[in-house]
Amino acid sequence: CGIVGYTGKRQAQGVLYDCLCRLEYRGYDSCGIAVNTPEVQVFKDAGKVHDILQNAPLFKGTAGLGHTRWATCGEPTQINAHPHTDCTGKICLVHNGVINNYSQLLKRLEGNGHKIVSDTDTELIAHLIEEYDKGDLEEAVRLAVKEIEGSYALVVMRSGENTLVVVRQDSPLVIGVGDGEYLVASDVPAILGYTNRVIYLDEGDIGTISPDSLKIRRNGGYIVPLVEKVNWTQD
Ligand code: GLU
Repeated sequence: CGIVGYTGKRQAQGVLYDCLCRLEYRGYDSCGIAVNTPEVQVFKDAGKVHDILQNAPLFKGTAGLGHTRWATCGEPTQINAHPHTDCTGKICLVHNGVINNYSQLLKRLEGNGHKIVSDTDTELIAHLIEEYDKGDLEEAVRLAVKEIEGSYALVVMRSGENTLVVVRQDSPLVIGVGDGEYLVASDVPAILGYTNRVIYLDEGDIGTISPDSLKIRRNGGYIVPLVEKVNWTQD
């Protein structure tokens, strides 16, 4: 339903909370955040951003991601809330969208020994990325999403690294360009408190974002992204 991500020089948790609050106008049933401390620390539950995330412990770290969920696969519960991680807890992601080949993927992953703990389609993506992870996260995400039929906007991070990998197909995702920092969101208003310079991702684009660099892969090559200025003022 709503996605946010941050990598930069600030403490990520406050930024993520702030951006999630700006997505509040959308309906949702659960929320959560993850911060690289540098281990991935997750806090999530069913309920509203204000009620849930104000009780989160303080995670120190400058990269993280957040989510508000509108359940499509699995009940709104703590375990089904995003972010989701793989078996090792190293790959962590948030997802908007619906995976149509869920049953097929579940069967394959369980057959390969993955222990799936939630009822969501989203968790499967974390395990898929883990399978393909040979050290290059962007490549692992690229190969994993090839197996997904359905819609997705994803923000992915790996324990110990302040790089975010983002990708979208039939779900919106925008990158906000700051000064030594980047934000990611499903919706421009989420990030307008931090920057009004944005990059709209195209279908199938894969972005790899660190505080001081941004790469966007499109159709097998890397493009020079168009940074647009949004002239909206926030309320
Ligand atoms: N299909 C995912 C779930 O049910 C994502 C839902 C959403 O877009 O919020 O957890």
